[in-house]
Amino acid sequence: MTSLAEETGAADRLLHSLRESQALLEGHFLLSSGRHAGRYVQCAKLLQHPELASNACKDLAAQAREVCGSDAPYDVVVGPAMGAVTMGFELARAMGVRGIFAERNPEGGFTLRRGFEINPGERVLVAEDVVTTGKSVKEVLVMLKEMGAGETAVASLVNRSGSENPFGENHRYFRLADLEVPSWEASDCPLCADGSVGPAIKPGSRPGLS
Ligand code: ZN
Repeated sequence: MTSLAEETGAADRLLHSLRESQALLEGHFLLSSGRHAGRYVQCAKLLQHPELASNACKDLAAQAREVCGSDAPYDVVVGPAMGAVTMGFELARAMGVRGIFAERNPEGGFTLRRGFEINPGERVLVAEDVVTTGKSVKEVLVMLKEMGAGETAVASLVNRSGSENPFGENHRYFRLADLEVPSWEASDCPLCADGSVGPAIKPGSRPGLS
């Protein structure tokens, strides 16, 4: 089964941009959790380049319009801070709607500050750069329901959840690429066992330099 992003070439364009901006690294990495992985994804590295961010969000907006069969399927884009602040704003520009962000409550969940509002019945597209567990996005969806939002959907650049739609059938989920980022405990790491790729390094550090 091919996704719309694959059919339109949007998946290839995103992967090219991720590699070009070093947002997607291949090698042997030591993650902050202590686990080892053969890939590392950090979308902020792509999003620091306005043109790459703009192009990716235009592809995502085109997908949402095509799937929904409407030029204006959503009224506002909301992203959980910090990861989705830049991406959400760029997606809002591509959708031609306003873009706001939600902030984490000290007591749990997300809230709108800074005078941001969702009007009752507004159709909301929730933005996130990378969906891994989808936890932050799910918390924003709960916040939106409590605020009386209308239809809600989710859009991300990368889906690494391993699921077609971790948000359930009540929410459409748009994304440009599905990426697997398997990781292992150091003792089980096949790259360590292989030995030919060198020791695990922290992403962003250069092998041979300190
Ligand atoms: Zn390893």
